[in-house]
Amino acid sequence: MATPPAFSICVYCGSRPGSTPAFAQTAALVGRWIGEHGGQLVYGGGRGGLMGVVADAALDAGARVVGVIPRALVEREHAHRGCTELLIVDTMHERKRLMAEHADAFLALPGGIGTFEEFFEAWTWRQLGYHDKPVGLLNQDGYYDALLDFLRHGVGAGFMDEGQMGMIAANAQWQPLLEHLVVSAGFPAPHRLGAI
Ligand code: AMP
Repeated sequence: MATPPAFSICVYCGSRPGSTPAFAQTAALVGRWIGEHGGQLVYGGGRGGLMGVVADAALDAGARVVGVIPRALVEREHAHRGCTELLIVDTMHERKRLMAEHADAFLALPGGIGTFEEFFEAWTWRQLGYHDKPVGLLNQDGYYDALLDFLRHGVGAGFMDEGQMGMIAANAQWQPLLEHLVVSAGFPAPHRLGAI
């Protein structure tokens, strides 16, 4: 029987590649890191943009990759057929619930409206106590600077508080962020999970 994954990370990211190759390069490093440390990748099951890049890199590095995708997107041929497990669901709600259930931590890479929505949902669910899993935001090359500024504006305006801000980990560097998420989720420090 296959060894169970050391940890499971749900990655939210763009279904587009972004404007510079640096985004895909980092997505590939994230996927590879998960595989090389014996982890499992949970993601939206698509093959386009950063989603396909992170999944392919994780698969190449030996990760178990669970894609969770709505039937409508499969029919539009957006599904990544190479996933270790492709869970096809009827609704977006079911999809997000399954992605959350299969993950020990959440990480948003650069992305668009879908990524924003998923990140905010993981954060909202955490603050409501639906889960206590760490939520990370990769602020690659300042991509999320304006969002983080706006969130601080929300604190200043009295609609948010520091406690809520403390429930997300934002970092410009992917590797310390991944290590932080894995440790915060209660797993051993990554260098002890298996060497690169
Ligand atoms: P976006 O950031 O708008 O490109 O949306 C990407 C996020 O939304 C991903 O994390 C996915 O979970 C989901 N998503 C959007 N488009 C697709 C697609 N074509 N196939 C699978 N998932 C998608």
